Amino acid sequence: LKSSSSFIRNTFIDYFVENHGHTRIKSSSVVPLYDPSVPFVNAGMNQFKGVFLGKVAAPCARAVNSQKCVRVGGKHNDLDVVGTDGHHHTFFEMLGNWSFGDYYKKEACKMAWDLLLGPYRLKPERLLVTYFSGDAAMGLKPDLECRDIWREIGVPDSRLKAKPAKDNFWEMGATGPCGPCTEIHYVNHDGSLTEIWNLVFIQCNRDVDGKVKSLDKFHVDTGMGLERMAAILQHVPSNYETDLFQPLITAIEKNSKDVMDYTRSYRADAELDCEYRRLADHARMISVCLADGVFPASSLNLKQIMRKTFKISTDVFQNPQLLSILYDVVTETLGPTYPELVAKESQAKMIIEHEAQAYAKMRAGMRKKWKELVAKYPEVQTLNEVELPGFVQGYKEFKETMAKQKTNVIPGELVFKLYDTHGFHEDIIQRMADFNDMTIDKPGFWKLLTKHKNRHKTAHKEQATTSSKVMFNEAIKTLFENGHTCTNDSYKYDYT
Ligand code: ATP
Ligand code: MG
Ligand code: MG
Ligand code: MG
Repeated sequence: LKSSSSFIRNTFIDYFVENHGHTRIKSSSVVPLYDPSVPFVNAGMNQFKGVFLGKVAAPCARAVNSQKCVRVGGKHNDLDVVGTDGHHHTFFEMLGNWSFGDYYKKEACKMAWDLLLGPYRLKPERLLVTYFSGDAAMGLKPDLECRDIWREIGVPDSRLKAKPAKDNFWEMGATGPCGPCTEIHYVNHDGSLTEIWNLVFIQCNRDVDGKVKSLDKFHVDTGMGLERMAAILQHVPSNYETDLFQPLITAIEKNSKDVMDYTRSYRADAELDCEYRRLADHARMISVCLADGVFPASSLNLKQIMRKTFKISTDVFQNPQLLSILYDVVTETLGPTYPELVAKESQAKMIIEHEAQAYAKMRAGMRKKWKELVAKYPEVQTLNEVELPGFVQGYKEFKETMAKQKTNVIPGELVFKLYDTHGFHEDIIQRMADFNDMTIDKPGFWKLLTKHKNRHKTAHKEQATTSSKVMFNEAIKTLFENGHTCTNDSYKYDYT
């Protein structure tokens, strides 16, 4: 099929290998390679960070790959929008091509344009291009060279836009290689835009003290979202209607309790659709992470997403076993490209089963404690925070402390404790205050919060400067041993 996701993936790779002399490099694991600056691999360039910084020799002059990416936590965190739109996922595949000190802006733009108009057959009048408008604070000028390249290629000024650093200065994390970029957007039939491809001109590095410094050599780093391209070429309204997600949506429909009720199928109800999308999205992220050896006990991000997933499958789709079923569907669609999904199936399923049981137990326990709390403080029923693990303990402490208090102002220390130790969001505390006719010592709370955040920042800085050097040396060794790909064996966990 001329528009299937495997056609899009293979065409990308073949185009750069055969037409432009690139070497294909395997996707790395989603676990960062001894890199504390990001919680997960969030772009195709992560495994080449050492090359950009001049610490590792380039594996080749030109590379191409399809990389497993996870954008949860850190600088690029898309978790909160997942489900509410049709094109941001926690896990997605990024197709990319690289020049390590070889070709630069002109060739990169031309190659991208020719692929979009040629093999992918996109109409140029549906494409819009952005370039970097400069940033005085960083001492960077507008990228007029890039603008002129696009003009020369034939993009009219009406479809060429300058954009500030927020959009067009790409950075991997709080530190690391970065540079001005040019983004190619697709104009959908309803007039909305989808960013499909980002071409980054890696010419700087942001170091731990926040300074952006020029690199000795300039490189090209690009990333195209496979799922977004699939939605465009398959003429469907969102990524969730493509061949990458449809099998998951269908499996959820088939395996949820209310299958026979057509009002519960996908695209029957906007709110329910969000849950379908979240579940399908999270199932991919969890499956890929488990296959790469991420262990929920050591990754809070993964653990929380697994919990969310169990909650959706239990409460919305009435089937706590859904995640395990969806692992198989993910393997059917992605296994041929990422065989670790097949190889690690039994370990992954074991972890899913273990976590599902722990979740069910936690819920049962919570219910019992919750009932006791309601008996003592009936007002908590209205607050309805039954899913917050720290709520019962925190609420008791709150009531007991306030009973001893002479005023009805909740002290900053107590607010901070509820927030930090028991995981209460500020809005819950506000509702508690309103309910009990109390006010909050907000300045006191903010003071403590700032102090805490600063402590966190300095700790992070220290870690980044000292231990990252050690880790970097390790990373270089691993890069050489594995030929710039990271094997799962480096991340073996004891599953027992
Ligand atoms: P957006 O502005 O849409 O959030 P981005 O600028 O953050 O995208 P880049 O960091 O430039 O994205 O990543 C390169 C490409 O990867 C994007 O052009 C897009 O096609 C794709 N992409 C980025 N984030 C996601 C995501 N969360 N889910 C799916 N695809 C994504
Ligand atoms: Mg983004
Ligand atoms: Mg963008
Ligand atoms: Mg971008």
